[in-house]
Amino acid sequence: MSEFDVAVIGGGAVGLSTAYWLAKKGLKVALFEKNYLGSGSSTRNASGFRVHFKSEQNVKFMIEGKKRLLRLSKELKYNPLVSECGYLWLLATEEQINEFKKTNNQVWSKHSVSGKFLDTHELKQILPNAKTEGVTLAFFGPQDGTFHHDFVLFALQSALKRSRVSVFECSEVTEICVKSNKVSGLSIGAREHTCEKLVVCAGAWSASVCKLAGVSVPIEPERRELGVTEPIRRFVDTFVIDLSRSIYLTQGIRGDIRGGPTDLATRGFAPLLSTFKWTVEFSKRICALFPDLKGVGLNRQWSGYYEVTPDHSQIMGRGENWPENFYVAAGFSGHGMMMSLLAGELMAEHVADGFTPELMKPYSPDRFAKGNTLDESMIF
Ligand SMILES: Cc1cc2nc3c(=O)[nH]c(=O)nc-3n(C[C@H](O)[C@H](O)[C@H](O)COP(=O)(O)OP(=O)(O)OC[C@H]3O[C@@H](n4cnc5c(N)ncnc54)[C@H](O)[C@@H]3O)c2cc1C
Repeated sequence: MSEFDVAVIGGGAVGLSTAYWLAKKGLKVALFEKNYLGSGSSTRNASGFRVHFKSEQNVKFMIEGKKRLLRLSKELKYNPLVSECGYLWLLATEEQINEFKKTNNQVWSKHSVSGKFLDTHELKQILPNAKTEGVTLAFFGPQDGTFHHDFVLFALQSALKRSRVSVFECSEVTEICVKSNKVSGLSIGAREHTCEKLVVCAGAWSASVCKLAGVSVPIEPERRELGVTEPIRRFVDTFVIDLSRSIYLTQGIRGDIRGGPTDLATRGFAPLLSTFKWTVEFSKRICALFPDLKGVGLNRQWSGYYEVTPDHSQIMGRGENWPENFYVAAGFSGHGMMMSLLAGELMAEHVADGFTPELMKPYSPDRFAKGNTLDESMIF
């Protein structure tokens, strides 16, 4: 008899959520985290959520995912401070405009999440302080917005404390034991634990963790940086993505502006530093969009990893040729915080009940080899 029904590796939002939903099903669960809970990308993100993706699968996933965010305060008594402030995309090229129009007609309207196109005059009403020369059309998705990632993590962490989940922090999994094509346990250095099933939720580190079981997944780390200014008077009421200047920003409830350039990324495990190059680019670009921001101080800057797959969409489930009780939920490619609550719930159904929920099917690890990748290019 094993010590645990399921071992979950990784204490970010996806691992915490998966452990929570598995425990709710009555299973004996252990969660192993190499540092402290939330030390990965889940406390380093911009806390945006959206239902507007290019691929229909991601749209459907996030229509349900948003419901889970809205339901969190009822489910776990923590308010994740959801603000439906909308996403405002500033479009510059014919190609971008055509892509948005096509997706709006063919995908978003089909799922009742169509948005509004704004001409330059209408845009001025929403962003009176912005310099929008070069922007020919904008798209506003009112169903999108922001939340507070810390409250999602606190909610899940405190729920795990109240449940029977055994949480092991400072416990890096260094070995996964596979016998007769079945995982039987894992090691934290010299310490061993046995389990019936194992789920890897190790974010950007998932490829190396999967390798411990002889499994290969195409997930690569990409360092991204983010910054927050000092608080200022209410300035912008929405989440702005300026595709002409390659920058995004939003204003938090305290008045601080947070955001970053969308095109400054370093592939691989680059050190989690705050670079001067980023500071200069961020300052230049937000001041080009909003000249009134000149002189506003940058309070904080930090970095974290996106966990990128070839089609910028997550991997959920298990591959046909993998050890039979080995699962992965990782590779959310920069949108895992918003998806984490639903992802954990679906993974728990899959792992505990043995069926693959409809919403999870497109994310099979085998899709890369079978040529069934998703068409997701609406990323930043
Ligand atoms: C700058 C930035 C902005 C972002 N903005 C957004 C946004 O606006 N909205 C959004 O939804 N998402 C956003 N994201 C992405 C989001 O943060 C991630 O997709 C999400 O946090 C992934 O969660 P996770 O649980 O899979 O990974 P993580 O939170 O990284 O957790 C993985 C955990 O696994 C642990 N681990 C690794 N190896 C081992 C091991 N061998 N043993 C034990 N533990 C191990 C790590 O220490 C880590 O804590 C952003 C990310 C960044 C970096």
